[in-house]
Amino acid sequence: MTPADARFAPGDRVGVLTAQPLDRALDYAAPEGGCRTGDFVEVPLGPRRVLGVVWGPGEGSFDAAKLRAVSGVVDVPPMRDEMREFLSRAAQYTLTPLPAMLRLATRSPGLGSGPATRRVYARGTGEPDRMTNARRRVLGVLDEHGGLGFTLGELAQMAGTGTGVVKGLVGHGAVVEREAPRDGPYPRLDPDLPGKALAGDQAEAAEALAEAVSGGTYGTTLLRGVTGSGKTEVYLEAVAACLRAGRQALVLLPEIALTAEFLSRVEARFGAKPAEWHHGVTQTERRRAWKMVAANGAQLIVGARSALFLPFADLGLVVVDEEHDTSYKQEDGVLYSARDMAVLRASICSAQVVLASATPSLESWANVEAGKYRGLTLTSRYGTAALPEMGAIDMRAEDVPPGRWVSPALAGEVRARLEKGEQSLLFLNRRGYAPVTICRACGHMIGCPHCDARMVEHRFLKRLVCHQCGESTAVPETCPSCEVAGKLAAVGPGVERMAEEAAALFPEARVEVLSSDMYTSARALKARIEEIAAGGADIVVGTQLVAKGHNFPHLTLVGVIDADLGLQGSDLRAAERTFQLMRQVAGRAGRAEKPGAALMQTFQPEHPVIRAILTGDEDAFWAAEAAQRRAAGVPPYGRMAGIVLSSPDPQAAFDLGTRLVRAGEPLRRIGAEIFGPAPAPVARIRGRHRVRLLVKADKAAPLQQAISDWLARVDVKGDLRLTVDIDPQSFY
Ligand code: ADP
Ligand code: ZN
Repeated sequence: MTPADARFAPGDRVGVLTAQPLDRALDYAAPEGGCRTGDFVEVPLGPRRVLGVVWGPGEGSFDAAKLRAVSGVVDVPPMRDEMREFLSRAAQYTLTPLPAMLRLATRSPGLGSGPATRRVYARGTGEPDRMTNARRRVLGVLDEHGGLGFTLGELAQMAGTGTGVVKGLVGHGAVVEREAPRDGPYPRLDPDLPGKALAGDQAEAAEALAEAVSGGTYGTTLLRGVTGSGKTEVYLEAVAACLRAGRQALVLLPEIALTAEFLSRVEARFGAKPAEWHHGVTQTERRRAWKMVAANGAQLIVGARSALFLPFADLGLVVVDEEHDTSYKQEDGVLYSARDMAVLRASICSAQVVLASATPSLESWANVEAGKYRGLTLTSRYGTAALPEMGAIDMRAEDVPPGRWVSPALAGEVRARLEKGEQSLLFLNRRGYAPVTICRACGHMIGCPHCDARMVEHRFLKRLVCHQCGESTAVPETCPSCEVAGKLAAVGPGVERMAEEAAALFPEARVEVLSSDMYTSARALKARIEEIAAGGADIVVGTQLVAKGHNFPHLTLVGVIDADLGLQGSDLRAAERTFQLMRQVAGRAGRAEKPGAALMQTFQPEHPVIRAILTGDEDAFWAAEAAQRRAAGVPPYGRMAGIVLSSPDPQAAFDLGTRLVRAGEPLRRIGAEIFGPAPAPVARIRGRHRVRLLVKADKAAPLQQAISDWLARVDVKGDLRLTVDIDPQSFY
């Protein structure tokens, strides 16, 4: 790799990588004033100007006389060597073209444009004619913290007044308006403010992490501990050590609805809020975050998986909270696992990684067993909170009328909580009202016109929605097949229907549904979760959204409506996922002083996974699961790649699959096996027919190289599309 300080004189041939869908860097002439490797530049491409990065010297094959010049160097810090190396290695690992990787690293609005300003309000020299309480508060805020000034909204909010009060003070000269650069540094976080007093295994774990971070070398630690055992408190001490060392920290969360709670914890610990990076953040804030991360004006970033591609000036720590969460795997565009890429990025820039989870992935568990990761375990819940009592409700012995799902046993437990003024959660991992709509006249089930999937009724939206492609239609009056009116019936439960049942069973209770599709914005969802956590509902009906680490201090009962749901799939991780999900959901109960209980409705209480959940013997579960996977040679003890072929024409997709199998010599050479072609479990999405191949290899086999050689032998033309998913997590 060319070092970042390689300079090019004006007119020198340089290779510029853009995020355009090309397969390599293009040659340009260095601009007036020259440029360096890593510089962000604008280059002409056809009739347009696009953003790119100087990747190194040009290849030299393009006619020098026709070489176009770089239009200009963008005024941001150049891309660091380690970032170029990270992108290159991530591209090789995921078999993604480098430009697509670069696109992830340049997702900042207005990167190329000059610094924008914004209007801020600061203390002026004048005094108001008359002092009111509201005015005093505004001036108080400015006197106390107001050096650089605040936006109108910020200032009014901090002073707890309307914006009119601030405007009024401008009239008197007590407050002045001015334009200030928008992309200012974030407030300093102070690692030396006192944290919570840690004791016992918390203190030991915090110390071990802090020491590793101060060492300034690469390492990965799996931090295990049941929900509420204080993992967050512990890794905040690793963040403190990182800030003390003057390096930057990144905390990844699986769900942006979790960030509000985390931001307040950071503020309580370090005296200010960190920078945020996820799709719920405004464009201007994203731009500021990107620039400040590069300029070392942001010490801590809290974000979604894409924050891994931010241009850190000096990244010293990455925390992946709830590391087992499936949302860390990006399932469209570039298929990458943020957990694995965090480890790669950290190993390149000598940073520490902390993977935190109550229910780690088998991959991480196995890496600890193999000595690749360090393992730290917090053994008990913090304070008095005890782990919930786990129990099964044998549905074979319960009398539940058709169209109802809450057993009398579970209903009795909910009633007991209502009487004590405590919260209950009814958990069902299915969005919408009912998964199937069937015509009682002809038996037709309403499906998506573009996908091999049933339309799911969302009564709240008054629509039928396809969960594969998002297609939606109004709920019809008549059957689309036999045209008989009034015979369409909802079959099976979704959370909306559960809420209806709960309201019928407990008319006096306040019932709330918590499902991502019922809120128009991440902000609205966050706000609602906080209200519920504060006691704003008696019964919460929720999807896996609630399993993800929210604190519900009044919640003392979790009722799992269908514990068997996840066990049905043929997915290799079905048992692992069910185990994790059930343990996570159960962990929602009894987090404060009140003890909790978790009850699972199941038709197979003797199933090994259900038994493992009930007995809580995690290590036994993991060991048994590991033994099975090792015997089958599947991840994490073997490697897999999923290949999806799609086309509007089913035969064409299948034929491509057959050609690929015939051309499979490069795979067979490394001892890999090819399975398929077979119709994908979801055989059609958005009108495209889908066929899958599965490649399975030994753990040590050079899988990516073999796949590249293999795919190079087969033409994928016209309407055909091929995607490669290394280490697939889903098999739909
Ligand atoms: P986890 O991340 O493992 O779910 P948290 O770090 O969120 O656990 O801790 C659970 C609760 O216990 C939080 O409200 C946290 O503030 C509190 N807590 C944990 N450790 C301590 C401590 N040492 N002192 C005071 N409160 C603590
Ligand atoms: Zn569809």
